[in-house]
Amino acid sequence: MYEANHLCAQLARHAVLTPDHPFAQRPGLSTVSYGALFDGAERMAKALTALGLEPGDRVAVQVDKSVEAIQLYLGTVLAGGIFLPLNTAYTDAELGYFLTDATPRIVVCDPGRLAGITAIGQGHVLTLAGDGTGTLTDALPETPGFEAIERAEWDLAAILYTSGTTGRSKGAMLSHGNLASNAEVLREYWRFTRDDVLIHALPIFHTHGLFVATNTALIAGSSTVFLPKFDPEAIIAAMPGATALMGVPTFYTRLLSDPRVTPELAANMRLFTSGSAPMLVDTHEKWLARTGHRVLERYGMTETNMSTSNPYEGERRMGTVGFPLPGVELRIMGDGKELTDGEIGVIEVRGPNVFQGYWQMPEKTAEELKEDGWFITGDLATRDAEGYVTIVGRGKDLIISGGFNVYPKEIEAIIDDLPGVTESAVIGVPHPDFGEAVVAVVVGETTPEALTAALTEKLARFKQPKAVYIVPELPRNTMGKVQKKALRDEYAGLFA
Ligand code: AMP
Repeated sequence: MYEANHLCAQLARHAVLTPDHPFAQRPGLSTVSYGALFDGAERMAKALTALGLEPGDRVAVQVDKSVEAIQLYLGTVLAGGIFLPLNTAYTDAELGYFLTDATPRIVVCDPGRLAGITAIGQGHVLTLAGDGTGTLTDALPETPGFEAIERAEWDLAAILYTSGTTGRSKGAMLSHGNLASNAEVLREYWRFTRDDVLIHALPIFHTHGLFVATNTALIAGSSTVFLPKFDPEAIIAAMPGATALMGVPTFYTRLLSDPRVTPELAANMRLFTSGSAPMLVDTHEKWLARTGHRVLERYGMTETNMSTSNPYEGERRMGTVGFPLPGVELRIMGDGKELTDGEIGVIEVRGPNVFQGYWQMPEKTAEELKEDGWFITGDLATRDAEGYVTIVGRGKDLIISGGFNVYPKEIEAIIDDLPGVTESAVIGVPHPDFGEAVVAVVVGETTPEALTAALTEKLARFKQPKAVYIVPELPRNTMGKVQKKALRDEYAGLFA
């Protein structure tokens, strides 16, 4: 067993208790047991140590999703290293920034990316393909057996770069204690046990797939149906033998377009969760009507792990993100004061879930993470009398038009309810008179004229869009988040 403070002591509990219990069922491939998972992790730890990894060194990883990639994560942490996953979509130019910023001792990439990444000139570069082969695999010793390097609760286990929608992407430093405490809280709050089979279809370079899904499954000893990517066919095939699915809203909208999604298909399921981006009430309602299950929506971010969740047993309220998780303090702030009367303000959170700061950015850290432990999330929200938190958008998405605050979510909700509308994004673009003008970008079978006419009756004049565009789809990142910055850039010159 590993030493108690160590994240892996928590995550490996079931590898010790029930080594034969399946961790990953892999369609078309062999099942990987808990014992085999951690044997592989220990072999990774040995190989990384032999390559010169010292405690506190970064291991930067840009690879396709595989069980071997999970073993690399666990092996890095066992060896006292800091796991640093990178989005597989990043180009060599983007990786240049991350690798130069993070100065990893070891870099692991897909064989297809070897030349470009070697040219960046950071760290010792090894390869790991989606099928588990590569120079890293070749370097693994035959036998497991590794004494985890001693780590304190606050020592770093991972650095995850934020999606960086404004300015430079920042490396969020996450400690052993941050990750272990959040996994334990989620296990308990969402009732994960060894009897669960979680459909794991999220990418593992992001907090949702790597920590929320993987760590929670591991700490509970649950099995997963481990899918290399989101694939509706594979999810539908897995559902009768599974008990839980963790998704982003687009998982649900995509699955809803398949007529095979029925109460019978979901009969064995006990939990569907959603997060990483707001889920429309309409999607919640359709999922309930189609499957008989209420999606449990939760809220978190790279810097804080999970902060709030709708209840498992109490009322799951659509359009809200529920209550602060046990041990997490949350307050809504405006003008330096805590708001208590349902007004809109910025969410701040404090607790064992909150990160240790931004990698090599002490000033940014000081701006957002206060000395008394409160972290300013930048998300705007309200909290109702019963304590349910509702996110109304990112602070930076707030539009100030003619001196009035306009909350995009309020207008999006009204537009989304109009006939023919599938979804919408409301943004502010520079305007010579108003400072910013409200612009609506809409997906659906409708016209700008029809929408403009309908909104005239429903919205105060300063909130009415000055321009409406119908588009085939909204720009989204891999986690399903609408890229408002891309839209703002696209429409920036509209009123110039
Ligand atoms: P990331 O760090 O990539 O996980 O992004 C975190 C951001 O996603 C948060 O700051 C929120 O703006 C947004 N987010 C996450 N979950 C939700 C949710 N359930 N509803 C609305 N926004 C969410």
